[in-house]
Amino acid sequence: MPLDIDDIMAEHADVLDGGEWAPPDCVARHRVAFVIPYRDRWGHLKSLLYYLIPVLKRQQIHFRMFVVEQFGNDTFNKGRIMNAAFREALKLFDFQCVTFHDVDLVPEDDRNMYSCADMPKHMSIGIDKFNYRLPYDGLVGGVLMFRTEHFQQVNGYSNMYWGWGAEDDDMTTRILHQGLRIYRPPSNIARYKMVKHDGRKVSEVSVRMKLLRSAARRSKMEGLNNIQYNLLYTHTEKLFTHFLVDIGHP
Ligand code: UDP
Ligand code: MN
Repeated sequence: MPLDIDDIMAEHADVLDGGEWAPPDCVARHRVAFVIPYRDRWGHLKSLLYYLIPVLKRQQIHFRMFVVEQFGNDTFNKGRIMNAAFREALKLFDFQCVTFHDVDLVPEDDRNMYSCADMPKHMSIGIDKFNYRLPYDGLVGGVLMFRTEHFQQVNGYSNMYWGWGAEDDDMTTRILHQGLRIYRPPSNIARYKMVKHDGRKVSEVSVRMKLLRSAARRSKMEGLNNIQYNLLYTHTEKLFTHFLVDIGHP
């Protein structure tokens, strides 16, 4: 049965407009911003909210949800919209950590904590679609959490990857190049289901590989520090804050 957003909202009447919640009986140890890159996946977004919000409540995380949508029909550029959302989120919410969360990954285990770690934390190790095995070492795609200062230190994501492929591998290089390590929770816990979807437009392999080879060199020159975007609107929805951003053309 398809999920009804009104039912999900009713279930979470205690969430503040804009998608913020904090445990009522204590001061949470962690304030976490969620940045969800988005375009044309409303069904996925509903299921993510439906499954993720209860997990966060049980984990007693103080959170706020930010959904960032790329304006127009140009090729998707996940790095750009996530950088833009991070900058806009900083103006609206005081957070210690940020989780970049693919809209189609549903957490399976409450023990996979959305709490801040000392190092960048890759949380989606096992995905059902890949038989719960990390496809390759160094992968940080899917669900990735940073301390705010670490995300700034790595200069965010590269802005240069249009279409599917390698923007996350570029991030691996950024992290390691700064002398940070990638923390991974136990693989029997860090599990997700990927909701079915069509593949994205795949980027040219040669372009992607060329970019990857220069990832370390580019890292301080382009990313969070030079992202150009136009914030078209900020809508305060009940369960999330919705940014629509124009990031230009490939
Ligand atoms: N995404 C989206 N709409 C698109 C393409 C991508 O919302 O048309 C977002 C969404 O959060 C998705 C993420 O970008 O989970 C990664 O894209 P995708 O799932 O296509 O790639 P995968 O990592 O599964 O290969
Ligand atoms: Mn996916």
